[in-house]
Amino acid sequence: MRKIAIYGKGGIGKSTTTQNTVAGLAEMGKRVMVVGCDPKADSTRLLLGGLAQRSVLDTLREEGEDVDLEDIRKEGFGGTLCVESGGPEPGVGCAGRGIITSINMLEQLGAYEDDEELDYVFYDVLGDVVCGGFAMPIREGKAREIYIVCSGEMMAMYAANNICKGVRKFAESGGVRVGGLICNSRNVDNEEAMIREFAKRLGTQMIYFLPRDNMVQRAEINRKTVIDYAPDCEQAAHYRNLAKNIDENDLFVIPTPLDTDQLESLLMEYGILN
Ligand code: ATP
Ligand code: MG
Repeated sequence: MRKIAIYGKGGIGKSTTTQNTVAGLAEMGKRVMVVGCDPKADSTRLLLGGLAQRSVLDTLREEGEDVDLEDIRKEGFGGTLCVESGGPEPGVGCAGRGIITSINMLEQLGAYEDDEELDYVFYDVLGDVVCGGFAMPIREGKAREIYIVCSGEMMAMYAANNICKGVRKFAESGGVRVGGLICNSRNVDNEEAMIREFAKRLGTQMIYFLPRDNMVQRAEINRKTVIDYAPDCEQAAHYRNLAKNIDENDLFVIPTPLDTDQLESLLMEYGILN
């Protein structure tokens, strides 16, 4: 079973990209579980057709410890298995703890056992925080493979670089590795070449360049992945290609983050700061 965590700057497209990639893997016949690690609990909405998924934390609050797997895991598009960790009531408690509680609960309930025959688990993790509970999926080998969603916008690259710094700390002691950058385009000049080079300097690869396409919004308003909503469109083909590249990936590295000067000179070289 491959255990994958998706990180990246807030709003960069982690949840959308994760669900579309998972839909692509499901179409390939893979059995995939998605664990949303965000108090917003919006990591599985497109796979579940908008069905409001009761989060693990809400279920625990309302039903106590006596919970079954079916109470917290719903089946979505293509047989995907969907879980939302949820979060504490706003302003109360630590959001990261929700992730810890959730993963522990899933383990206790046997969600990762061999008889579940999972090919993949995906963790869709909130924002670019790699501290505390949000690092849980990459700590202790819960997730062993990281993909970072970024774009050619400076702050997205800055966040990707910081995530690499965080991953590096855990990678040196544990087995977690970076599998690549997913460029989710914001139509920045020279974006594809720049992110390819950025990935190379980080010691990894750009595993895919996803164009920006309003079809993503159209599918989203219909509560579907692009693959489900418009299976024949170009963007659906891109998500399938990304899924295939991840499925075939064999480049897993301890990243080599850049310092701020190096990052800025990269941006300069590609003309972004002109
Ligand atoms: P958060 O950090 O808040 O969890 P996120 O990284 O999960 O955010 P998403 O919610 O997936 O980001 O995406 C933010 C918005 O960007 C969504 O409304 C989505 O429709 C849009 N979006 C993502 N990818 C694309 C794309 N390739 N083309 C067009 N729109 C996109
Ligand atoms: Mg998200």
